[in-house]
Amino acid sequence: MREIAVVGGGGGAVCLLEALSQRSGPPAAVTVFEPSDRLWRGRPYQRDADCVLVNLPSRAMSVRAGDPGHFDRWLAGARRRETGAAGEADPVAGGTGRADPFDAAAFPARAIFGDYLESVAHDSVARLRARGWTVRVVPERVVHAAPCGGGATLTTERGGSHRADRVVLCLGAGAPYDRFRLHGPEPGFVPDPYPVAHTLAGIAPRDTVAVLGTGLTAVDVALALRANRHQGPVCLLSRQGVLPAVRQRPVAHVFQHFTPGHFHELSRRGEVGFTEVVRVLRDELASAGQDPAELDTEFASLHEDPARRLRRQLDLFDAQGLGLRILQHTLPVAVDVWPLMPHRDRAALLQHHYRAIHSLCCPMPPSTAAHLSAMSEAGQLRIVRGLHSVSRTGRGFSAVTGSGRIHADTVVNATSVAAHRVPTAAAPLVQSLITASAASVHPHGGLRVRRETSQLVVDGTPQECFYALGDLTFGSLFITAAIPVIVKLAQEISREVAGP
Ligand SMILES: Cc1cc2nc3c(=O)[nH]c(=O)nc-3n(C[C@H](O)[C@H](O)[C@H](O)COP(=O)(O)OP(=O)(O)OC[C@H]3O[C@@H](n4cnc5c(N)ncnc54)[C@H](O)[C@@H]3O)c2cc1C
Repeated sequence: MREIAVVGGGGGAVCLLEALSQRSGPPAAVTVFEPSDRLWRGRPYQRDADCVLVNLPSRAMSVRAGDPGHFDRWLAGARRRETGAAGEADPVAGGTGRADPFDAAAFPARAIFGDYLESVAHDSVARLRARGWTVRVVPERVVHAAPCGGGATLTTERGGSHRADRVVLCLGAGAPYDRFRLHGPEPGFVPDPYPVAHTLAGIAPRDTVAVLGTGLTAVDVALALRANRHQGPVCLLSRQGVLPAVRQRPVAHVFQHFTPGHFHELSRRGEVGFTEVVRVLRDELASAGQDPAELDTEFASLHEDPARRLRRQLDLFDAQGLGLRILQHTLPVAVDVWPLMPHRDRAALLQHHYRAIHSLCCPMPPSTAAHLSAMSEAGQLRIVRGLHSVSRTGRGFSAVTGSGRIHADTVVNATSVAAHRVPTAAAPLVQSLITASAASVHPHGGLRVRRETSQLVVDGTPQECFYALGDLTFGSLFITAAIPVIVKLAQEISREVAGP
């Protein structure tokens, strides 16, 4: 039997098991390595406060390829089971029973999505076992891997050795990067905000809290402080001060022009530069009867006052224009377009437009935006740009920003991960692969992978037995960690690794 090793047992591993369980073919053996107590949930969907929500509508969060209603059906079943039990809260409203004025069922708590992942993993394993597969979980970190006779040998932290024919790295994103080196024995600094239910619990109610970052994680922290009835000031600080955009009422869209097939056709005729990609997007908008000016306005207003931008976008929840929503649907196609673009255009896009694209393509749920806006209007929340440095002082922290110095009693790290995209827990493993010439670093971060197969690539040659899924492929691919993209790539990897 073919031996498949899956390193990392979070959301990516679940998508892969689900995809494998839906395929026919000879049985194989799967071993999943996961050292943490968050098996099948990973860091994003661990058990946590119910104010921490998924940021895509539930219909886009199905992990079963080709079945967008899968998560919604599971949610409906969970709700029936919960309401059957007297006194239990509605899981769809995050367990609080509070109604989301925008769309009650669309953005469940991430912990509930974690429950769904656990349930999908158990069902997938049962289906595989019923077909003669063996599936086992090793609760250990993999610290070393090396190619060996067409396969690989993996070593775990306790010295265990495991042979595999195919290895899929699903290592996740890891914790935020401690850019200002604030982590140490002294109290007051929260290096990783998850689970917010524990990490923020000790913050004194009147403390001034500085949150490093203005992305989705920073938004989670602000919301969790609000849920904890925090009374002191909260400042979200970053270089550009750009919040995620606000998600509008979800709509379905079927692409006419912005399809992988169309881009491959264009690439046969020449380079697919950034200008060409924008032209195809404009054709897509035109064929959907949409005015491209909507997107032009959003790109141009990136540096609008953040609180004003938040309120303006919240008011656009039911906007007539579909431009932003069509742009957001392009993410799973972007992984196909990205490798076709010339290196210089990719570099320029990452340097000049990444923040804007990320903000617009990975927006926050509208109910989240409404809470933030309420905090801002009450004068409790400030979003400050021009963050330059943060250091400890005798009585807390001092942040140097574009609006002067800001004092904070507590600092919560909610910045992005390090540019190399390798989680600390996986650093020895990734280094061993690089040393063994089985992996190479992409100049934009992550490891080099081949788009068609997700195999690791060294000197242009795909490595026969090593694959990567998720954040580790950033650079070779583009915004690869959203569930719809992971589902698509896991489907392709399952075809590769389960082969004869
Ligand atoms: C805070 C947060 C919120 C998010 N919210 C959403 C959302 O709402 N919607 C969406 O579509 N996407 C979201 N994402 C993107 C998210 O990354 C994916 O949805 C998905 O969880 C990624 O799965 P993964 O398997 O790549 O990573 P993870 O789920 O993080 O799993 C990686 C696992 O690898 C393990 N690991 C690491 N190193 C080793 C090693 N050396 N040996 C063995 N195991 C190891 C870790 O312990 C971890 O459990 C979010 C991401 C974050 C960080």
